Amino acid sequence: MKVTPVPCYADNYAYLVESADGTCRVVVDASEGPPVLTALDGGGGTLTAILATHHHGDHVDGNRDLLARFPGTPVYGHASDRGRIPGQTEYLEDGATFSLGPLTIRALHVPGHTTGALTYVVTEGAEPAAAFTGDTLFAAGCGRLFEGTPADMTRSLGKLAALPPETRVYCGHEYTESNLRFAAHAEPSNAAVEAKVAEAAALRAEGRPTVPSTIGSELATNPFFRTGEPELRNTFGIPAGADAAEALRVVREAKNTF
Ligand code: ZN
Ligand code: FE
Repeated sequence: MKVTPVPCYADNYAYLVESADGTCRVVVDASEGPPVLTALDGGGGTLTAILATHHHGDHVDGNRDLLARFPGTPVYGHASDRGRIPGQTEYLEDGATFSLGPLTIRALHVPGHTTGALTYVVTEGAEPAAAFTGDTLFAAGCGRLFEGTPADMTRSLGKLAALPPETRVYCGHEYTESNLRFAAHAEPSNAAVEAKVAEAAALRAEGRPTVPSTIGSELATNPFFRTGEPELRNTFGIPAGADAAEALRVVREAKNTF
C-alpha cells in the first residue's frame, strides 16, 4: 500500500491510497478538487472509491469535482452523515469491514468532533495498518468537540488507542507543531514530546508533512491520550480523582485558548 498526502487549502491533507499493484486507488477526504485530481492524474487516472471521515467542507468539498471526472465512484461515510456528504452512496456503521481490490478497510465510528466521524483502518496483506483519523485524532492533538461530548471523544480515542502501536496515523490537518507546543506545556518533562518537536521542525523546514505518526508515538506524546498522567494533571489543576472524560474536557478547553 502506498499513501500519498495531498496538501489542500491552508493545512488540510487529502490522501491518495494505492494498492501495491496499483489496481486500487482510493481518496480519503477529497478536501478540494484541483490538487486531488492532479494527484490522481499522476498515476494512470483511475479512482476506485472516496472515503469521507466526516461531513465538514474541508474534507468533502472536492467530492463533486471527483465525481464529475469519475462518475459512479462510490462515496463512503457514516450512516448518520446521510445528506451531509456530497455524493455519498455507502452508509457505514461502526465496525463495517469491506474490501476494495487488495485493500481491506474497517470503519471505526469515533464521534466527538462530529456525530458521524469515522476512522478508516486500511490494511494490505501483513503490512502495518494505516488509520485515517480525519479531525478526531491529530498528531499530538484531537479535534474540537463541535457535535459531541468529552465522554464521546474519550470513548473514541480509546478505540484508537487500542489499535496496534505500529499503526500509522494519517490525520486531516498539519497541526503538529502547534499541537506539540501545547503538549510540551502540558508535560514539560516528557522526553518523547521533546524529541518529536525536533523531528517535526526538521520535516517542516524541508516543507515535508509530519504525517504519518503512529499510535505508539501518539500514546507517548499526545496530551489527549495522556490525561491520566500526574504531570499533565498538575499543569491543568485536574484532581487525581477526576475521571477520564472530565480530564479530557479540561485539557480540550485549555487547548482551545492556548
Ligand atoms: Zn472537521
Ligand atoms: Fe477539518
